Amino acid sequence: MITCCDLAPRHVRAIAPYQPGKPISELARELGLAEADIVKLASNENPLGPSPRALAAAQDALHDMALYPDGAGFALKAKLSAKLGVAHDQIVLGNGSNDILDIAAQAFLSPGASAVHAQHAFAVYPIATQTVGAQSIVVPARHYGHDLAAMRDAIRDDTRLVWIANPNNPTGTFLPWAEIEAFLEAVPERVLVVLDEAYGEYLPPEDRCDTAAWLARFPNLLISRTFSKAYGLAGLRVGYGLGHPDVIDLLNRVRHPFNVNLPGLAAAEAALDDTEFLARTYALNTAGMAQLTSGLARLAIDTVPSKGNFVLAKVGDAARINAELLKRGVIVRPVAGYGLPECLRVSVGLAGQNARFLDALEACL
Ligand SMILES: *Cc1c(COP(=O)(O)O)cnc(C)c1O
Repeated sequence: MITCCDLAPRHVRAIAPYQPGKPISELARELGLAEADIVKLASNENPLGPSPRALAAAQDALHDMALYPDGAGFALKAKLSAKLGVAHDQIVLGNGSNDILDIAAQAFLSPGASAVHAQHAFAVYPIATQTVGAQSIVVPARHYGHDLAAMRDAIRDDTRLVWIANPNNPTGTFLPWAEIEAFLEAVPERVLVVLDEAYGEYLPPEDRCDTAAWLARFPNLLISRTFSKAYGLAGLRVGYGLGHPDVIDLLNRVRHPFNVNLPGLAAAEAALDDTEFLARTYALNTAGMAQLTSGLARLAIDTVPSKGNFVLAKVGDAARINAELLKRGVIVRPVAGYGLPECLRVSVGLAGQNARFLDALEACL
């Protein structure tokens, strides 16, 4: 008998599902432990939690939960516009930046089109590409990062989109902005370049760049950013895209009308104002990254230099070590699905969490 699933499009059935980090509650159940005894360094979340101001704003917004949120996100866009120097019609809001990536694929790709991304790049790129029936062109990585020259050469006549993450997840690799800028100059204007800056807030000051200022020169550039990582709002799902008004107009046509929820909008607005929280987050990450990388070096484990809030550790038999870590109540992220079966990705946590991970790792080596 032929089922409805058998008749689902071949390109949908071929999608490799996204593998999220194991939830704390699930491991606690499996081990019979209290949730407080589990350390999760698997999803690049902010170990400080949310900004207290964002939390208060979200709680306040809940009083209005019977009402639809502002589908245009006027107040949040006003804040972003003032901060970034872009107009309202250059901003699209998303249900997390994952939504921005999805609607970019929906608006710019179709069966018969292709999109270029690097080997070891963020897993959502092939998923978003293949969901709309387009083909992924995967370009071999260079030193775990994007090989921009090869990516430029991989662009075909049917290519409509290029995905770039800087820094990249799960490798943490970072390309100097001048190289990204040169890439944008070399890419034909008919190809949309999606520049995913999910970890931009973790870059040291000397590596930061006002990429929004590039929009005036590159009408085919779409920048995506998120409140999930440094701003600590992963659970509320808020992200945004910046681009040419014509690009944003297309994205607005395909997005859900109320794609960003009420507490999410309120929390994101408040989070933007809490620069003190962002500075604390940055400082904690810098110290925690040093703690993790020096601890790993002490255990003779190589790492890939990272500019994010996570680090790729070359542990060898990652599947075995991951299983051992889980038994000790430590959740990190296996990345075999990214073609990195010898590595584990470890998010930077609080000092005590980082120490728990290093101790557990030492015990299973
Ligand atoms: C986490 C992440 C995102 C998206 O996260 P959202 O929570 O959907 O905003 C996007 N790109 C990269 C590279 C990420 O690591």
